[in-house]
Amino acid sequence: MTQKTGRIKIEPLQSILTAREQRAFLKKQIADKGFPCLSLSLNVPGFPKSNPTVQLFFSHVLTDLKYFLKANLIELSEDESICRPDDTGDFYLSPCSGYGKPIEEIKQLCEDFEGNHSLGRFIDVDLNDAQGNTISSGKSKPCFFCGERPAIECRRMEAHNSDEIRIFMFSKMAEYCRQQRENILVKRISSLGLKALLDEISLSPKPGLIDKFSNGSHSDMDFQTFLASSAAISGWFEELVRAGFSFKGNDLTKALPVIRNIGLRMESDMYASTKNINTHKGLIFLMGLSLFACGKLFSRQDRFDAAVFRSIIRDICKDIVEKELAPVKVSKATHGEEIYRKYGYSGARGEAENGFPMVFEFGLPQLTAVEKPGEEELFKSLLAISSNNQDTNILYRRGPIVLTSFRNLCKKALEDLNAANLSAVAEFCKSENISPGGSADLLAVTIFVDSVMRADQKKEFTPLSELNDF
Ligand SMILES: [Zn+2]
Repeated sequence: MTQKTGRIKIEPLQSILTAREQRAFLKKQIADKGFPCLSLSLNVPGFPKSNPTVQLFFSHVLTDLKYFLKANLIELSEDESICRPDDTGDFYLSPCSGYGKPIEEIKQLCEDFEGNHSLGRFIDVDLNDAQGNTISSGKSKPCFFCGERPAIECRRMEAHNSDEIRIFMFSKMAEYCRQQRENILVKRISSLGLKALLDEISLSPKPGLIDKFSNGSHSDMDFQTFLASSAAISGWFEELVRAGFSFKGNDLTKALPVIRNIGLRMESDMYASTKNINTHKGLIFLMGLSLFACGKLFSRQDRFDAAVFRSIIRDICKDIVEKELAPVKVSKATHGEEIYRKYGYSGARGEAENGFPMVFEFGLPQLTAVEKPGEEELFKSLLAISSNNQDTNILYRRGPIVLTSFRNLCKKALEDLNAANLSAVAEFCKSENISPGGSADLLAVTIFVDSVMRADQKKEFTPLSELNDF
């Protein structure tokens, strides 16, 4: 790493001395107060020592370190900590204490952290005792670039070109940050998926449907059955989002078997949790597509975009009605196939092939119209969907005439939300023994999409573009 004797090249060296002196001074201040001090920095050769990727990597490592220390009962003092980049790079410093643990034990934990971190060789967790002395384990770290010699030897020999090392490091850091972003997104989106299921089932009262107080037009299941089923299928949500993230290629119709493979396992877990009652079969299809599509969308871009989300769903389900509902098969026809043959209504498959029009054109506007949707908006969203949806649950049980009457009653209740109109819908469901289960599934998807959009607006999701900037 040659330093040319030019004015521009000398300046960083001078400022590094100042930055190093400043760090030593800060450590001394903590020692003067009688505390050991723990610091975090990165080994970045050459200049500059930081950039947006390095900063983001540093902030992930700092978060990891804080959780690790806390879990091992090492306390940091947030009030007195310092976290700022200087000319030697990104830097964190804090007084620490370990519930009476000897300083060597704390040092060992710092080394365990570095040793177990996938990019631990980029990381320096240093420790000074209460007298300000650096605690060293005496072990030398292997070179993070070649791994063949101790790092200090490679540095002395100038064994590697610093530009090469920098590119190697930054790409590893970017990859790490991308993985962290994916992990955070996968967890967050999955939890919004489960929240949507719980919000839908908890919305009470609902006409003909299961809610907290009533089993609606159902005799074989109740609120508890839905809680059990929600818990059982939500275990697969992360896998669906992750499948979207990792799906390669441009032909999204190839994603359908991938989603269905997970969906079939969900169905099996659903039946096991409900003693063979179908609570969520339609929902598994719709939510499976939605979770996958979110993963796919966020693997390509920073922000949620409803048009892109819808086009992903449409591409996955291209020609699905023609391919799946029309052909005559050896097995017994499903409810969906029977209804398609009898009335030409395409149900959940048609809804997906068209990019969820019930969700985006009818359900969602009821929720996005207000700052914080409550039960009333959720109910209006259900009515808006029900008054437009060709609900196959109703069609299968009672046929198109009853469905039309039901839709008209829903429309009337939505236009004028009063007790008489609402009880007319509820009474009709009771007398005809119908339950708009398909619309309830679409409401859950609507709540999910709304919550993802809100999280995105609050910038809860790390943008992808930050990771390509080094
Ligand atoms: Zn080396």
